Amino acid sequence: MTGDGAAVVDAVEAVAERIEDERAHLTELDSAIGDADHGGNMARGWAAAAEAARDLDDPDPQTVCKTVGKTLMAEVGGASGPLFGGSLVFASAELDDGIDAESAVAFAETYLEKVEDRGDARVGDQTVVDALTPAVHTFKKSVETDELPPLEALAKAVDAAERGVAFTVPIRAKKGRASYLGWRSVGHQDPGATSALYILEELLAVAADALDAEIPDVDATSPTIPDEAAEDDSAAAEDD
Ligand code: ADP
Ligand code: MG
Repeated sequence: MTGDGAAVVDAVEAVAERIEDERAHLTELDSAIGDADHGGNMARGWAAAAEAARDLDDPDPQTVCKTVGKTLMAEVGGASGPLFGGSLVFASAELDDGIDAESAVAFAETYLEKVEDRGDARVGDQTVVDALTPAVHTFKKSVETDELPPLEALAKAVDAAERGVAFTVPIRAKKGRASYLGWRSVGHQDPGATSALYILEELLAVAADALDAEIPDVDATSPTIPDEAAEDDSAAAEDD
């Protein structure tokens, strides 16, 4: 197997390993505000996804993503199977022509929109959306506006997701099982946002590996503002 498809299979395997390592922690988070199955759900789903991805014969990135999504739907079940897996199957349509910075942005945006739609959740509801939204917005801006190299854009997205996970702690759950707790959900970190961060961290590590590069040391809250110089120039021109 060669090229981007192989890198995506590597990423799926890395995610499966990481989720297995974090299984107990994710379960602990879900036992505080849910039903203590998030670690098991994710570990079972991603282990099966890695196996299914490995079994594909010379796949392209789209086929790998679709296979992972379908496997998560089948293995995880419940509400989070369709939420995480079904959205992945849907977003994989954006990878028709493989993965580049542009298709990766479209993929990320479509995935987030689908998760929001299916879960009827928005930022501030203490769900996975709180990690995905800043990550996807930061990734899009870094690629399209700041024109950063894809690896740096992804590193910024991961940093933004980390802040999103921290943001779930002081807020009240409005969706999912944690919402049944009402105000008692305040003070707890959302399990789904946490596993999404781990997944993004592994995608970044595998991307760096594939590019034979170091993981860039970035800060999502210190954006480059490319228009500033142009605005200065036009202001100076107006003064003339
Ligand atoms: P379940 O909630 O069925 O037990 P999991 O424990 O595997 O499934 O996943 C829980 C995670 O799913 C939550 O931490 C949250 O991030 C996410 N989640 C739950 N409900 C929703 C929703 N309606 N919209 C978005 N995300 C949700
Ligand atoms: Mg649960």
